[in-house]
Amino acid sequence: MTRDMVLERLSTVNDPEIPDLSIVDLGMVESIIVTHERVHVTLRPTFVACPALDWIRDRAEAALQPMKAHVSYDFDHPWSGNDMTAQGRRHLQSFGIAPPQDPSHAVSCPLCQSQDTYQSSIFGATLCRSLYYCKNCQQPFEAWKPT
Ligand SMILES: [Zn+2]
Repeated sequence: MTRDMVLERLSTVNDPEIPDLSIVDLGMVESIIVTHERVHVTLRPTFVACPALDWIRDRAEAALQPMKAHVSYDFDHPWSGNDMTAQGRRHLQSFGIAPPQDPSHAVSCPLCQSQDTYQSSIFGATLCRSLYYCKNCQQPFEAWKPT
């Protein structure tokens, strides 16, 4: 199996919360090592306490069968919002969730792009997201936390 084939298989593993957002688009894949007998994949955890991490690891190992795969997390180098691909960002936005943004900037509303927004709650539907409110279109929305 080549590195590209591994990436292709991993792109079928989606975030459990967002349909069709793969762990590759999320930028979670840190390294891939292919040997004769095994594939070693290291992932960046999106959020260290995220309960989905075990679930994602199990799905990733299953996606690489029949190769013996070892998928682990690099907790020393956690995922940051900058790791997300452009495709992943577009996908999140079309799903109504603001992609991770630099904390020093205002979060843009995924519905109308206005920056006239404020954080209404630090936790959204999952620990990885915060709740925001857009004063322009007067809609609540969720934003993916930058780290
Ligand atoms: Zn808006």
